[in-house]
Amino acid sequence: MDNNQTQGTALGRSLKIAMAYLLAGALWILFSDAAVERLVSDPVALSRLQTWKGWAFVLVTATVLCLVLLRQLRRDREQLHMRKAQQEEILRLSQFQQGVIDNANVWLNVLDPEGKVLIWNRAAERISGYTSDEITGNSEIWQKLYPDPDYRAWVMDQARGIITGKEEVEGLETRILAKHNGERLIAWNSRALKDSRGEVAGAIAIGVDITEQRAAENALKARERQLANLMDSLPGMAYRCLYDEFWTMKFVSSGCVELTGYKAEDLIDNHRVSWAGLIDSSSNSGELVREVEEAIGNATTFSVEYRIRRATGEVIWVWERGRGVEGDQGMVLEGIILDITERKGLEERLSELATLDPLTGQFNRRETERILQEELVRAERYGRQLAILWVDLDHFKRVNDSWGHAIGDQVLRTVSLRLADSIRTVDTLGRFGGEEFLVVLPEMSVDEACDTAERLRRRVASEPVQVAERQSLEMTVSIGVAVYPDHGRDADKLCNRADKAMYLAKNLGRNRIEVYAPGSAEDATSDRT
Ligand code: GH3
Ligand code: MG
Ligand code: MG
Repeated sequence: MDNNQTQGTALGRSLKIAMAYLLAGALWILFSDAAVERLVSDPVALSRLQTWKGWAFVLVTATVLCLVLLRQLRRDREQLHMRKAQQEEILRLSQFQQGVIDNANVWLNVLDPEGKVLIWNRAAERISGYTSDEITGNSEIWQKLYPDPDYRAWVMDQARGIITGKEEVEGLETRILAKHNGERLIAWNSRALKDSRGEVAGAIAIGVDITEQRAAENALKARERQLANLMDSLPGMAYRCLYDEFWTMKFVSSGCVELTGYKAEDLIDNHRVSWAGLIDSSSNSGELVREVEEAIGNATTFSVEYRIRRATGEVIWVWERGRGVEGDQGMVLEGIILDITERKGLEERLSELATLDPLTGQFNRRETERILQEELVRAERYGRQLAILWVDLDHFKRVNDSWGHAIGDQVLRTVSLRLADSIRTVDTLGRFGGEEFLVVLPEMSVDEACDTAERLRRRVASEPVQVAERQSLEMTVSIGVAVYPDHGRDADKLCNRADKAMYLAKNLGRNRIEVYAPGSAEDATSDRT
C-alpha cells in the first residue's frame, strides 16, 4: 500500500469518527434536552441537571475517545513492529542474495536493456580481471572483452537476442580477452530478466571459465587420435577382449580387416563371429587357454602361436602377445595379434633344408645318422632287431662320363625315388653321399632285411631310367646288409659292416646283395674295442 492510499484511508476514518461524534452529540443534545425539560420544571434544578448532563456527556465521549485512541495506538504499534520485521527480512534476503552472487563460483552478471552492466560478481572480476567499479553502469565492457569488432558484433548480436527476450542460450561459448590473463573460453547460460509487469528489464548471464577444461579435452582427443593412428600403423591387430569362452572382442584396431578379412564391427561383441570361432580346429585351444591362464595368474604377459581361419577360408598362423587387465567388466585381455604365416613357412623350409638332401629330396647324411641313433636306442630299449642296407649304384661313373653330370643327377633322383617308394613308412632312406644310400629298417631280422634288399635291387634293375626321348639306362645297385645286434651294437660299426658287405657284393659281380659275414681277422680286432 503506498503513502497516498494510507493517508486517504486515515482521513476517511477520521471524518467518519467526527461525523459519528457530531451525530451522537446532536442527537444527545436534542433528545436529552427534551427529556429533561419534560421531567424537571424548576429552572434552577433544570440548569443544574443540564450541567450534570453536560459533564456526563463529556465523560462518556472522553471515555469512548480514549478507547478508540488506545485501539488505534495499539494497531499502529503492531503495524510498526510488522514493518520492521519485514524490513529486516528484506535486508537479510538481499544480503543473502548479494552473498550468493558474490560467492558463486561462476561468472554472474546482469545487464540492463541497453547492455550496461548492473551486477558484476567476484568470479566475473576474477576471470575477466575487470573490477565491478570499472564495469558497472557503463557498456565499455564489450570493447574490453571483445576487441575484435566483427567478433564483438556477433557476440552483441547474441546478447541483444536475449535482452529482447527472444532467445535464451545454454552453453554458448565465447572467447574473451581477460585484462591480465590473455584469452579465456567462457561457456554462457543466459536469459532475459522481466519486471513485475512482464517487461524485459535486462538479461542475466552465468559464465563458466572452461579454458583449462577445453585444453584438457583437446589434449585427450589429440592423444586418442595419436593412439588410434599408432594402432592403425601397427602391423597386425591391436585388441581388447573379455576373458570369456568366446574371447568377446570389445575393441579391435583397423588392422583387423587385413588380418582376418572381417570388419571390426563383425567381431565386436561377437556380432558376426567370435574370436574363439576363428581359431582353427588344428590349433590346440586347450593349451592356448592354459598359457593365458598361467600368465594372468602370474600377472605377466603371454605369447602364443596358433592358427585362425580368415573370412576367405584360408588358414593362417598368428602370434598373439597380451596381458590380463582388470577392467570395468571384470578381467579383460589387451594385446596385439600378428600374421606370422610367412615366418612359419620360412621356418618350415629352413628346417627341411637342414634335414633334407637338396638333390634327391631324401634325408641328408646328418639326419639319417640321427634317425639311426634314435632307432638304435629304441631297439635296445625294447630288445628288438634293426637292419641297415648300404646301397651303392653300380658303375655310376660311366653315367656321368657318357651322359654328363646333369643326367647323372637325374638318374640319382630317379633311383632314390624308386628306393623310397619300395620301403615301409617306418623305414628311412637317406643319401649318405655321392651315389650311396643308407636304409634304416626298424624291427627287421636278417632274413626280412634281405627280402627288402632284394626287393630294392630288383626294382632298380627292372626299371631302366629314361635319360633322353628314346634312351633309357639300365641301372643296378649293390647292397650290403648288417643287423643289430648280430653284426654290431652301435651306428658306426653297423655302417662299417654294411659297407663291407656292399663291397663284397661289388667284388662278387655287382647287382646283388650280401649280408655281412662275421669272423674276419679285422672284425675280431675291432670287436674287442
Ligand atoms: P662302382 O660300381 O664300383 O660303385 O662304380 P662307380 O662308377 O659307381 O664308382 P664310384 O662309386 O667310385 O664312383 C661314384 C661316382 O659318382 C663318382 C662321382 O663322379 C659320382 N658322383 C658322386 N656324387 C655325384 C652327384 O651328386 N652327381 C653326379 N652326377 N655324380 C656324382
Ligand atoms: Mg660309390
Ligand atoms: Mg658306385
